[in-house]
Amino acid sequence: MTDHAFATRAIHVGQEFDPTTGAIIPPIYQTSTFVQDGVGGLRGGYEYSRGGNPTRTSLETLLASLEGGKRALSFASGLAAEDALLRAVLEPGDHVVLGNDVYGGTHRLINRVHGAWGIRNTTVDLTDLDAVRSALSTDRSRVLWIETPSNPLMKISDIAALAELGHAVGALVVVDNTFASPALQNPLALGADVIVHSTTKYLGGHSDVIGGALVINDDELADKVQFIQFAAGAISAPMDAWLTTRGIKTLAVRMQKHSANAQAIAESLVGHPAIEAVYYPGLPTHPGHELAARQMSGFGGMLSVAVAGGAAAARKFAESTEVFQLAESLGGVESLIGYPAEMTHASVRGTELEVPDNIIRLSVGIEDEADLIADVRQALAR
Ligand SMILES: *Cc1c(COP(=O)(O)O)cnc(C)c1O
Repeated sequence: MTDHAFATRAIHVGQEFDPTTGAIIPPIYQTSTFVQDGVGGLRGGYEYSRGGNPTRTSLETLLASLEGGKRALSFASGLAAEDALLRAVLEPGDHVVLGNDVYGGTHRLINRVHGAWGIRNTTVDLTDLDAVRSALSTDRSRVLWIETPSNPLMKISDIAALAELGHAVGALVVVDNTFASPALQNPLALGADVIVHSTTKYLGGHSDVIGGALVINDDELADKVQFIQFAAGAISAPMDAWLTTRGIKTLAVRMQKHSANAQAIAESLVGHPAIEAVYYPGLPTHPGHELAARQMSGFGGMLSVAVAGGAAAARKFAESTEVFQLAESLGGVESLIGYPAEMTHASVRGTELEVPDNIIRLSVGIEDEADLIADVRQALAR
């Protein structure tokens, strides 16, 4: 199956039917341990589910294929994946360079959790290559952390150019590919070393499971991270891994519809009197449009707007939609609306990562396009 196109691999890789019953869907191995044929006689290489479980292996095999990587590891959450990776590669005194619009939870993890163990960080505008170069010149810059499109202003940064800058100082180049998903962007092919996912979002795709993953090409690094996963234990449970695998089967078609709906909404909001600015990389006026067109195979389902009436009007808009549900998170089939300043980005208020208080973020689902546009319009009218 590895030679097939993305949509075929998404449905079949790691998903061979059950040889004993013919069940087309492999069973969920809801088990903690595996019986041994005599001490050390493991039937399928599995011993205890913290170390490995066939349902998790299925998902990991699939994720590695979809990102074009050698190995994948599946975790209890996106942040658990990030934590395992960073603990595998960093030592006290090391330095991480991050985008100044990085996911707030990533910043909190590196700044407050790893910071307490002597990890230093610098946040920088990843679209400014000179600024990145000078941030990386710091002694012991070990990791360059890239997120594109970024959250919530959908900035696009150049993965290939940034990977070159990172590699020039010997840093590991990590891309959080949560927003694009592997259906729209494959950072390993652009020079990145490691992919991070919150599989909670587009990969799972149905807002019913929390999970995370890493995709790594280097066996030695993958072994190190796998050791942390085993030793610290932040694995994904069998049911969670199975739900994620099930979600991924429809990823290719979902991403097309997410992108088409978001494009239509973005275009319908340009010039609307209640909207000051629309941030969507599919709009030709977006500063990252050309780069996104080169680096991605679709513009994705996330967009943000700046509301003309300020914070109060923005909040009112977020509370007035009917199809779009007011909730954190993103990437599910159902459309969500959020007020980043007090929701997803509340943890970075008062820092350099603060989001303006008139920004509203939409995670555009795969409902009917006309219903979504009508919903946004009636909410803005209020
Ligand atoms: C949600 C998210 C994370 C964190 O993932 P969890 O599954 O919530 O731990 C990391 N990066 C991005 C871009 C996210 O949207």
